[in-house]
Amino acid sequence: MNELLPNYIAGRWQHGSGAGTTLVDPVLGHDLVRVDATGLDLHAAFTHARENGGAALRAMSYRERAAMLAAVGQVLQAQREAYHQIAVANSGTVKADSAIDIEGGLYTLAHYAKLGETLGDRRFLLDGEPARLAKDPLFQSQHVQVPTRGVALLINAFNFPSWGLWEKAAPALLSGVPVIVKPATATAWLTQRMVQDVVNAGVLPAGALSVICGSSAGLMDQLQPFDVVSFTGSAETAALIRSHAAVVQRSVRVNVEADSLNSALLLPSEAADSEAFGLLVKEVAREMTQKSGQKCTAIRRIFVPEALYAAAADAIAARLAKTSVGNPRNETVRMGALVNRAQLDSVREGLSTLKTQAEVLFDGSGLPLVDADPAVSCCLPPTLLGCRNPAGADSADRVHDTEVFGPVATLLPYRDAAHALTLIRRGQGSLVASLYGSDAQALAATAIDLADSHGRVHVVSPDVAALHSGHGNVMPQSLHGGPGRAGGGEELGGPRALNFYHRRVALQASSAVIAALNPAVAPVANA
Ligand code: NAP
Repeated sequence: MNELLPNYIAGRWQHGSGAGTTLVDPVLGHDLVRVDATGLDLHAAFTHARENGGAALRAMSYRERAAMLAAVGQVLQAQREAYHQIAVANSGTVKADSAIDIEGGLYTLAHYAKLGETLGDRRFLLDGEPARLAKDPLFQSQHVQVPTRGVALLINAFNFPSWGLWEKAAPALLSGVPVIVKPATATAWLTQRMVQDVVNAGVLPAGALSVICGSSAGLMDQLQPFDVVSFTGSAETAALIRSHAAVVQRSVRVNVEADSLNSALLLPSEAADSEAFGLLVKEVAREMTQKSGQKCTAIRRIFVPEALYAAAADAIAARLAKTSVGNPRNETVRMGALVNRAQLDSVREGLSTLKTQAEVLFDGSGLPLVDADPAVSCCLPPTLLGCRNPAGADSADRVHDTEVFGPVATLLPYRDAAHALTLIRRGQGSLVASLYGSDAQALAATAIDLADSHGRVHVVSPDVAALHSGHGNVMPQSLHGGPGRAGGGEELGGPRALNFYHRRVALQASSAVIAALNPAVAPVANA
């Protein structure tokens, strides 16, 4: 039998008592390792993290916790090759796609290590300026933020076992809040290995970081009023979490990053030979194939003026046709596999649903897989769908509400700018929309028009063609999350990420007391 990976809870490595779930190589079909959480003492796990990890972290200043994150980053840097090997085997991703997860996680960690240094030697944050509460300025109100006195339960999706861990854990640990991570079972190996390396290196205080792999059963039951849960995954699981007694009755704070039908929009003023048109085509093809389309931020709907529908279809199809799909160990391969057979089936089912309302503009399934057996591997070449006319874009409701989590997108023609915005809003709230154009005024106005239904608007104009960070790339400096269907959550956004892990309180006192909050005058410890 394959190795059973241990969980790390209550300061000890512990195996589940069940047979476990086997993780599988999605290209070769081999069994890899097993994970199991059966019979773990979850109460002891949460209590240890909350009491020991929390107290130790809160006793440190932001600067000390920032140095701790930097040390975590160094430990992980030294093992990057091992992480890439796990990613190829367990996620079936080509090197560049594994890097989005692995290097993206390390970059985010480094960002928060640097940001933490700027917060200095204090143990709480001042929030805004003092406000006088009466005519006499002596009595004032000052808001402060202190780390929540609980544990952060991080529940992650299968597509980012590294980045998903660190983009949540870095702000939590910097805030002084201990973390228990529950990776998605299908790809739990990389998360488990990273936690193992960090724990074994001894760079974190006891109880600061725990990992539980396998079933999520019972995790939410452990949450107490000052704990928080940060969830990434499907809307269905999000609904279960939101309706759990911990949230409904105990006011556990919850952040949800769910699914999203992200858009790319070519502005009406652009022609088929414009630079902006070329930039849209390039970005769409990249977004459809990167990580086999298994990115929550990937472009799912592409909006072009109706006169450019055929030209856009041809140009995107020509790029997709050049994508070699197959075994990521072969250097000629540009796109690897979907994560497992369940996802392959789910993508095929979603494609059939979309095809009832859209035509197929490019079908890569006729092309041979490279070094991969179609009967065994979970490789699926890209498919571009389309609705031939603007009326079709209106009536095709599945296209606006079915997230196919794979290399699939739909091209939609629009009549005018107002029509494009109406169609985009039918996504009911998305993580990101990208705009392509060359008129700065029109781009800015459209970005503001779309701002209320998106967490991020990514604007690509010719002047930033070689600079922009990519439609789907989540940068720690910018907000990640989206309203409505996207889950209503907020992550990252530089220092904004710390808000979720802090409690804001208004202190009302004499101006002398308020002045004493400044650690330069009188250091205040709240451990
Ligand atoms: P999922 O099935 O909802 O699973 C997400 C996580 O929730 C997994 O760790 C899963 O554990 C756990 N889970 C399942 N049932 C639970 C329960 N009752 N209580 C607590 N946790 C539970 O989603 P997925 O298939 O892994 O991920 C794909 C989806 O995530 C897509 O829809 C994608 O759009 C979305 N996503 C969103 C973002 C974002 O940032 N907005 C990022 C990535 C992915 P098991 O694996 O053990 O079932």
